[in-house]
Amino acid sequence: AGLERVAIIGSGNWGSAIARIAASNAKANPRQFHPEIIMWTHEEDFEGRPLTEVINSTHENPRYLPHVNIGENVRAEKDLGKAVANATALIFVTPHQFLEATLEELSGKIRDGVRAVTLIKGVKVEGSDMTTFASVISSRLNIPCSALCGANIAQEVAMDLFSESTLGIPTSSSGDLESLPEVKLWKTLFQTPKFRIRVVADVEGVCLGGGLKNIISLAAGFIDGLGWGANAKAAIMRTGFMELHDFCLEFFPSTTSSTFLQESCGFGDIIASCIGGRNRKVAEAMVKTGKNISELEDTLLDGQKLQGALTARDIHNFLHARRDSVKRPGGYPLFEAVWNICYNNMEPEKLIDNL
Ligand code: NAD
Ligand code: 13P
Repeated sequence: AGLERVAIIGSGNWGSAIARIAASNAKANPRQFHPEIIMWTHEEDFEGRPLTEVINSTHENPRYLPHVNIGENVRAEKDLGKAVANATALIFVTPHQFLEATLEELSGKIRDGVRAVTLIKGVKVEGSDMTTFASVISSRLNIPCSALCGANIAQEVAMDLFSESTLGIPTSSSGDLESLPEVKLWKTLFQTPKFRIRVVADVEGVCLGGGLKNIISLAAGFIDGLGWGANAKAAIMRTGFMELHDFCLEFFPSTTSSTFLQESCGFGDIIASCIGGRNRKVAEAMVKTGKNISELEDTLLDGQKLQGALTARDIHNFLHARRDSVKRPGGYPLFEAVWNICYNNMEPEKLIDNL
């Protein structure tokens, strides 16, 4: 077999941080990987120049991950078709709201035998159906798709501070996961001494842990904005964790409890995001300023995108569509309260009323 050629679909805060790791690992493994990592970049202007040109000449992404050298072997490419033309390994890392349009444009453009991994946090909801993005990518492109999620605040990973992550692999094998080709591929590309990866055979659970925790980070941010202290925040994290755990086991019975309890993509990511995430930060500002979430996303995040409010709305719509058959006693009151605060002007103080 020839060398693996990697294309990253997305070039935001996390996309750029992971490009840096993939570029360094590809270079260090020349018998397995072509050294050039292509990063599809939604073109935009940066201080009068095309962003792709700035990335390719400075080896930094000053728009989404300033002051970090991502590697001379990362090439930003604005044409999606060209970015994936030779790729054998695709890394999906766009904000979830842009994935569908990107997949639409990709269809018919990828090579046979390509493998994919998604780092995207969020879920797809249509009426009473909910799908993870690993499933969406896999069924739309007809390729296997793994998932990598965890307590992975991009800025910290980009500074090589110690982090863990969870790789979920689509397999029915109960044997040694480490020997699977998919695991070898993604671990060689992503793992470093400071970015440690544990593997589970629960790709849906990995996607859902990362996908749903953003709702809990918003709730934690409301608590910070209210100034209710550490006990209240711990209560919200615990309650949020239990809702996430029970929701996944209720609606995705193939997921395993241990993915949420024991892995970075579960409880670990809830803790990190409730302490240091963007959803937390914007939610705190919502309470303190009285401004709405999309206004604050624009002013506080400088082009980066929030996933939590959209996910709270998706989960609300899904639960509403399934309202006659939800089994959990009392339903999912924290998830619903976050949706109400984001979209129905509910006072943040009422977050705890139905818990
Ligand atoms: P981001 O929040 O920095 O968003 C900016 C990106 O969106 C840029 O690449 C921009 O080009 C792109 N974009 C804007 N408009 C677009 C359009 N119309 N079409 C396509 N792309 C467009 O992105 P991010 O932080 O890399 O997040 C990507 C995913 O990774 C999200 O699902 C996020 O939850 C997840 N994630 C983020 C972090 C983090 O710390 N940033 C950590 C783990 C996972
Ligand atoms: P935010 O999008 O809230 O910053 O969360 C980042 C993240 O997912 C860390 O694991």
